[in-house]
Amino acid sequence: MPPSHLPGLSKSTFLMGRQCSKLLWFRYNAKDQIPAPDEATQAVFDQGTEVGELAHQLFPGGIVVAPRIINPSEVMAETQKAIQSRRPLYEAAFAFRGGYARADILVPVAGNAWDLVEVKSTTQLKEDVHLPDIAFQAFVLTGAGIKLRKCFLAHINGEFVRQGPVNPQKFFTLEDVTQPVTALSRDIEEQISAMQRVIGAKSCPEIQIGPHCDNPYTCALHDHCWSFLPEASVFTLYRGGAKCFSLLQQGIRKLADIPADVTLTDNQAIQRAALLAGQPHIDRPALAVFLGQLEYPVSYLDFETIGTAIPLFDGVSPYQQVPFQFSLHVLRSANARPEHHSFLAEGTADPRPEFMRQLRAVLPEPGSVVAYNASFETSRLTECCELLPEFKPWLRKVTPRIVDLLLPFRGFRYYHPQQNGSASMKAVLPALTGQGYDKLAI
Ligand code: SF4
Repeated sequence: MPPSHLPGLSKSTFLMGRQCSKLLWFRYNAKDQIPAPDEATQAVFDQGTEVGELAHQLFPGGIVVAPRIINPSEVMAETQKAIQSRRPLYEAAFAFRGGYARADILVPVAGNAWDLVEVKSTTQLKEDVHLPDIAFQAFVLTGAGIKLRKCFLAHINGEFVRQGPVNPQKFFTLEDVTQPVTALSRDIEEQISAMQRVIGAKSCPEIQIGPHCDNPYTCALHDHCWSFLPEASVFTLYRGGAKCFSLLQQGIRKLADIPADVTLTDNQAIQRAALLAGQPHIDRPALAVFLGQLEYPVSYLDFETIGTAIPLFDGVSPYQQVPFQFSLHVLRSANARPEHHSFLAEGTADPRPEFMRQLRAVLPEPGSVVAYNASFETSRLTECCELLPEFKPWLRKVTPRIVDLLLPFRGFRYYHPQQNGSASMKAVLPALTGQGYDKLAI
């Protein structure tokens, strides 16, 4: 049995076990070696909690079971009391044959039965993750004596656009997954038994790194398991995909050691050649064409955005990126000092009207507008104009002047070996300037 405070595998540890038995073993036998979630991951978890609470309103008038109790036996005892009410139950807990499940929502239906509703903050059903998750719960609940009529996934409706208070009926989409879940739940007991054997083993299972390390989630032990790879490993190969794992299986760990007879794409070949030469690859004619299109004053523009599962403002969809900050450096001539303009939204109101007003005020009328991965900035400006059509004529004049600085890097017109196969700003900046983001004043 799992050496845990829980009476069995929880649904999250069950899913861990499905992703990798080594991760599962660590979870129970060396938990202190699994790093805590970083801020970004924690923010995703927090959003999931908010979405889950909103979903309660789909089936109002229910009981949050044992909200402040941690002890599973007490939570299950509270569940048994709450069941008698025949009201919707949020977070009801059950255990059966090595599984312990807290159901997001249980809805009472005719015939003394219940519907199980699992809430996810994705905008669609992910069959390989969500269905086993619900099947695990269905197995535990049914075994614990709950008569289940149907199983549903409540996920976010990607078409939703906020107008006023969020209406849960419009925000969520309910998908009936009873049939596939019933089929999958037949194998759950065997899977739990296999996982218990892994957990009870004296030593960690020998599992090689593979595509499963990032599928369906990036594993929390990623740094631990991948640390044996050298700098400039085969995994830095640009868009290497399955080829990287194939090279590793052949015993090739370093990019520089890839034999000449291995077929590489043009960009991968440039990458390897630059590494072996120890100097950048520079396609001077192509760069001359790129730079030749720039017209002064050149405006260097960058945005920061926020995108939440539950939209914060009217006219916004789930996860839509709303700009709240820009930084603009204007270079009036080749030898001029850059002028800096910036905007950072204050307060909790929709930042877009002020963002657009300020940007229009400081962005020079003529000249090139340079952005890194410019399609992102262009898309955000276009979305802002849907809300604020008075800016459309201005944007129509700006759009043709936008130049994407990513293109020469993504096209390997310039490639520095220290980019390690990446054209992202975080890789290009230190390779070109020797300075990383950690030295920037933010
Ligand atoms: S990083 Fe990969 S091999 Fe290591 S525990 Fe995670 S999934 Fe398993």
